Amino acid sequence: MGKYDFLVVGAGLYGATVANLAAEKGKKVLVMDKRPHVGGNVYTEKQEGINVHVYGAHIFHTNNKKVWDFVNKFASFNRFTNSPIANYKGELYSLPFNMYTFNKLWGVVTPDEAREVLDRERAEAVSSLKTAGVDEPRNLEEQALLLIGREIYEKLIKGYTEKQWGRPCNELPPFIIKRLPVRLTYDNNYFNALYQGIPIGGYTRMVSNMLASPGIDVKTGCDFFDDKAANMKLAEHIVYTGAIDTYFDNCLGALEYRSLRFENELLDIPSFQGNAAVNYTDAETPWTRIIEHKWFEFGKDEDGNDIPKTIITREYSISREAGSEPFYPVNDEKNNNLYNEYKKISEKETKVTFGGRLGQYRYYDMDQVIEAAACKAAEII
Ligand code: UDP
Repeated sequence: MGKYDFLVVGAGLYGATVANLAAEKGKKVLVMDKRPHVGGNVYTEKQEGINVHVYGAHIFHTNNKKVWDFVNKFASFNRFTNSPIANYKGELYSLPFNMYTFNKLWGVVTPDEAREVLDRERAEAVSSLKTAGVDEPRNLEEQALLLIGREIYEKLIKGYTEKQWGRPCNELPPFIIKRLPVRLTYDNNYFNALYQGIPIGGYTRMVSNMLASPGIDVKTGCDFFDDKAANMKLAEHIVYTGAIDTYFDNCLGALEYRSLRFENELLDIPSFQGNAAVNYTDAETPWTRIIEHKWFEFGKDEDGNDIPKTIITREYSISREAGSEPFYPVNDEKNNNLYNEYKKISEKETKVTFGGRLGQYRYYDMDQVIEAAACKAAEII
């Protein structure tokens, strides 16, 4: 019998949520992560007074009051609202697609004028689908054309999406683009969410607070697979949040993931781009976006002083080669089918729960991960 009730493999949001809820119920938990820190991909690191989102930008947003109340136990959130800008060959457009975008593209001023152009653009998409004899969009390209028409698709979607996923839009699943709202209002808020913000002091502090219970031991820099057999004996139950195919030694074949490469630069100027995120939506620019971290916190340190320097990150989307980290599951039919095979064998591992973006091979947002972890915790604790 192990010393712990639960071993949680992976100190990201899924693992930290389960660990926290288990400890609340008086369980003994060991959290293990191969990285030298907690937080998983939401990890932030203070550099030059700026909380740097080391594994890509994370903006917390949710409609789920329970999830919002839960995270607010561990951090106060600032009033940051995500309003990224698209840069298409030097032309700037507002995101998500809204009246500012339509005004810049088409010169329209009122919602009615915008609707007229959109309806025209969409009608073309509907009639080409009809000609092809299909009722439902079969891929991201068809979905985007139906949603927003050809001009926006070509300027603001195609290049960005193909860089991000490394394959043509007509080979990608439609659901990805449904993340993006289309609005006939002057509203640059990227998310349709009731609650949104960045944890003051950074995500790492928030996750550390989730793990701060005396019932939780945390071991970072410790790879579960270095001694899987011995680690399995450490607890009654294992919550594994790593890649599900890795757990099974890729025995059915490797699932595909997209990975990211980050290029950071410290600049001795107060502002580089005047916004937290600028997406480069043309095909020619090699990076997908540039993040300027200080703007997640309005350019101020925690005492409210202006930060004199700035840190930017160019984000490149890459295929996952040996050694690079898996970031995004590629939820196309082939990979989903393979995942379902892994899921079947995982159900036989009654001592192990598989959770999170990698454990469940799902393009989860942060709030969805927390919700899924809390539901699972209620079942297994
Ligand atoms: N997207 C796009 N143009 C943009 C931003 C997003 O076409 O400027 C589409 C694209 O298909 C992408 C999806 O929306 O794969 C989700 O993008 P987002 O940047 O929201 O994803 P994240 O990496 O933040 O999860």
